[in-house]
This record gives sequence, C-alpha cells and structure tokens, in this order.
Amino acid sequence: MFSQRIEGLRPSPIRSILAVIDRPGMVSFAGGLPATDALPRWSGDVEPEVLQYGPTEGEPRLRAAVAEHLRTLGVDAPADRVLILSGSQQGIDLAAKLVVDPGTPVAVESPTYLAALQVFRFYGARFVDLPASAPLTYLVPTFGNPTGACMSDTDRDEIAARVRADDTVLFEDDPYRDLVYEPGDRTPIVARMHGGSWIYQGSFSKTFAPGLRLGFLAASEDLFARLVMIKQATDLHTSRLSQHIVLDAISGPDWPDRLDRLADFYRDRRDTFDAALHRHLGDLATWETPKGGLFFWLTLDRRVDTRPLLDQAIARNVAFMPGEEFFPDGTGVGTMRLNFSHATGDDVDRGLSTLAELIREQR
Ligand code: PMP
Repeated sequence: MFSQRIEGLRPSPIRSILAVIDRPGMVSFAGGLPATDALPRWSGDVEPEVLQYGPTEGEPRLRAAVAEHLRTLGVDAPADRVLILSGSQQGIDLAAKLVVDPGTPVAVESPTYLAALQVFRFYGARFVDLPASAPLTYLVPTFGNPTGACMSDTDRDEIAARVRADDTVLFEDDPYRDLVYEPGDRTPIVARMHGGSWIYQGSFSKTFAPGLRLGFLAASEDLFARLVMIKQATDLHTSRLSQHIVLDAISGPDWPDRLDRLADFYRDRRDTFDAALHRHLGDLATWETPKGGLFFWLTLDRRVDTRPLLDQAIARNVAFMPGEEFFPDGTGVGTMRLNFSHATGDDVDRGLSTLAELIREQR
C-alpha cells in the first residue's frame, strides 16, 4: 500500500517530546522554542487580495526585502533569485527533492540538525562526514543546531573552495544568524564561493514567530528555477497572510530595534542559564557558552546514555534532547542539547537540578 520511501520513516523525536511539554508543570529544555514573551502581537488588517492565490516565488516586496538583507551579508542574489518558503524546513525538503536519489551521498557535520537528517533520509540519502566530498553538502555553520558553535573563517573558506573545485552543491542553513550575543565576522560560506552551485536559507521563526511558518531561500542561477518548480508541486505558494504580517514588521521603523532587543533578551537568558549550569552540572559536564542561537551543548564526563535518561526526566517533568539523535550514525553517547530560551527563573534551577540528580544516579 505504501511507497518504499516510507519504510524507513520514523517520527521526529523532537515532535514526540513537544507533545508532552504542554503538560502542567513541565520544564522543557527540549525544543528550539522562542520565548513566548518575545513573540509579536498582531492586530492587523489586510486587503482582500492577500487572501487570493499568489505567486509561487512569494510576494515581490518581501523578496526584495530579503534580497536587500542578503546583500548586507555579501550574498549575491537579486530579488528574482529569492524564494519565499513555508518555513525554512521546507527549503530542506526542496533541496533534497532536487539532489537526492536513493543512495546519493550527502555530506553533513556530525552532529547536525536532526530534522534535516530526517528529510535527507526520507529521500534515501547516505550520510558521509565532512570533509568528504558529496553531490550535496548541508551545513549550519553559524550558531549551529545542536551545538551552538560557529565554523571558523578558515574552515568556511576551505569548504567554499572545495565545493567550487568539486562542482557540487553547498546548502547553507542559517536560521540563527540574527540571534547574536557576541558580535563577530561570520560571513556566510556562500558569500565566499564567488560562483558555483549553492542554496542559502534563513527563517523568520526565531526572529519573529515560528507559527507563521515563514522562511526564505536564495540560490545560484543553475538551481533556482528548478527549486521554484519543486515548490509549485509541493504547495503552490506560501501563505500570503503570513508573508504580509512579516512584511509589515520588517519594513517598519522598529525592526532593527526589535532584533537588538531580542538579542539583549536572549543574552540575559543565556547568561542566567550558564550560571545555573555551573551550579548544577559544573562537575558532571563540559560545554562552551554559545555566542548566539538558542542551545547549550553538553558533553557529560562519563558515557551516560542520555536516551533512557530522557524517559526518567519526563517522568519528573523535565524535558531535554538526547545528543545521540543529532549524529547521523547514532554515535554521540553522553551528549545532550539544552534549549535556554524557553524556561525561566526557578524552573531553570529545578529542571537542571533534576537532570543533575538523574545523571549522578546513572554514573
Ligand atoms: N534549520 C535549522 C538548523 C533549524 O534549527 C530549524 C528550526 N528548528 C529549521 C531549519 C526549520 O525552521 P523553520 O521551518 O521554523 O524556519
């Protein structure tokens, strides 16, 4: 009854955890949820035509605004090579449909974004570790998910040069760039390629509102028209209402301020979380304080399997993401990803002290 493709499909562990985090009293470090306090209010009005079908590529004014943003990053993409997405998760699906056949090698970091692994796997990809060459290289080089780490300039340049030399496709996924707590030069890899085949994508989920499902991609000329056709076949176009809500926000005078305030807000949360981590897990794990994004990545001092730990944690109303899930080959025992943007105040202490107790019991 079903396609072969569906055989290997497993539910995303994140989605399964999200199903329990609404339980009363639950402290969640699991998802990448923005702080509810940081979400915008909308009481807008739209022209009736916004509720009509629209172009697959997206609203022209939004594409132009995205192109302008890309220009400031050094990414060479005019508005007519910007495609508005129904969330940047969709960009991963479109790229996989474009490049991946059963058995196609895809080069990824290890660990990397879990839901990208899920999509590539769905189309039959075979994962190879960077720096191996593959028809498609997928990277989250800036405040990555799950590690929060940034790729160095040297590594960025090296990857740009290698992808050009091999004539393969680079896919740079960049949803956390604007949640920056320590400034630095983190020029996108695609801006260092000066040609070649590439896809660069961003999202309004972290800077504005994930529930609107709005992201964007830009791509090199050889890929763009095909990506548009794939999107046509996928969902015709992204919600115009979502596009207009975001367009109003980003073209208003308050947008740069909003980004600054958001960074201040999350920097505070990061610092509070870091201090609480030192209090509760200082002698159990090591980590680097992330300079942006939404996650701490912990390496436990012993190889404690964090998957059974999750069940015990959930029974005690605390959720987190076991690190193993982010490794394409299922290695990574003794790691965990903790989101610091969602839980607050006493909940952070209660949650981390529970995790510390459970880890001590396991050792
Ligand atoms: N890529 C990465 C690396 C992510 O962390 C996420 C969200 N967690 C996405 C893509 C998808 O985000 P969205 O579809 O909300 O834009």
